[in-house]
Amino acid sequence: MAEQLNPFKMAQAQLDKAAKKLNLDPQIHTFLREPMRELWVSIPVKMDNGSAKIFKGFRVQYNNARGPMKGGIRFHPEETIDTVRALAAWMTWKCAVVDIPYGGAKGGVICNTKEMSQREVERLSRGYIDQIWRCIGPEMDIPAPDVYTNPQIMAWMMDEYSKIMGYNVPGVITGKPIPLGGSLGRGDATAMGVVYTMREAAKIIGIDLKDATVVVQGYGNAGYNLSRLLTKRGCRVIAVSDSKGGILNKEGLDYQTVKGHKDKTGSVIDFPGTKQITNEELLSLECDFLIPAALENQITGGNASNVNAKVVAEAANGPVTLEADEILSKKGVFQIPDFLCNAGGVTVSYFEWVQNNCGYYWTEEEVYEKLDKKMTKALYDVYGLAIKEGVDNRTAAYMVAVSKVAEVVKLRGWV
Ligand code: NAD
Repeated sequence: MAEQLNPFKMAQAQLDKAAKKLNLDPQIHTFLREPMRELWVSIPVKMDNGSAKIFKGFRVQYNNARGPMKGGIRFHPEETIDTVRALAAWMTWKCAVVDIPYGGAKGGVICNTKEMSQREVERLSRGYIDQIWRCIGPEMDIPAPDVYTNPQIMAWMMDEYSKIMGYNVPGVITGKPIPLGGSLGRGDATAMGVVYTMREAAKIIGIDLKDATVVVQGYGNAGYNLSRLLTKRGCRVIAVSDSKGGILNKEGLDYQTVKGHKDKTGSVIDFPGTKQITNEELLSLECDFLIPAALENQITGGNASNVNAKVVAEAANGPVTLEADEILSKKGVFQIPDFLCNAGGVTVSYFEWVQNNCGYYWTEEEVYEKLDKKMTKALYDVYGLAIKEGVDNRTAAYMVAVSKVAEVVKLRGWV
């Protein structure tokens, strides 16, 4: 069996592959293989029972050549520095591929918020900012929500930072509640970004998004929102799944009643009028679009040859392994790589920061119009390079991103 790489080693291997294709200057390559700065913090928090608990946290600032660093904060019980390093590297490439003027960063705190009261989570959120505030700011590093953090946590963090500075600094963090400077459209931003890239992929392979058949793995935040938005655009979502299994109805599923069923029973399975299928069967269904929107490593060397979709739109992070990439590419499946496909969230985070810094707020229509332009251009940049260089879309996406970062590293005279 192949060695299970740690996520940071995997991120480095992906960079190495792109660097080779780009014939990247070895010094720039060496520089881009490591984060520029890492902050390790201990956060003392007074718990409700009067005791003090010390939480460990990190902020990894991977690269700031193209602008202030950007990346979410995760509150995760199994957080590791290597996961945060990998995610910070991927943020660097994600911001570059959609051409927003940011570098990449990521933060993490080892904690289980499910076992904490709201007051304890608030004290932890403020405590984290008390430890890292010198290294963040609207011109330096702009955090955002991620796994187990949310707009309320961003509000506490923005408030804590503003108290330290002595004035309101909404642009220090994105994903805030709308009354506190959050952007309209942020809630659906990731899913809308996926839809825009799917629409263009459909044009490239000569089908119409309207009337397309769609299969969605995972019916959480991303999977449900995508089913809703795609159904509204005329697509037929024929199968969806969650950790317990999948359901199929070739006539199409009603996203709202499926959601109601899942909310009531805890799963999509046993939804009336559907055929029960396994997640493996779901991945091999004949369809126009297969959307992995659950976990990483779902389409692998072992099952990629069964994929029967024209396009794989990677809403999840890391759903397709390197081995599977080669198989899908040989089969002629059009892949929309994860860090391009799901970049709508960070793009609207950037719009939020722009609006905060200008003190001038846009309508939802303006936000989506700008998002559409960014995602569409990024898709064609990647596809154009893939055709020119004869590489798959993921390699092309890395090549686009890494060459943009490398160019400014050189221009700035760093190496
Ligand atoms: P979520 O926790 O809301 O939903 C995950 C869904 O996947 C759940 O329905 C769960 O039951 C299902 N699932 C778990 N194991 C499964 C399995 N083995 N087979 C099939 N389904 C399984 O998470 P989410 O926010 O929807 O995120 C899903 C993916 O999309 C993640 O990779 C995440 O990083 C990525 N993503 C999400 C967003 C966002 O805005 N929500 C943004 C960017 C990327």
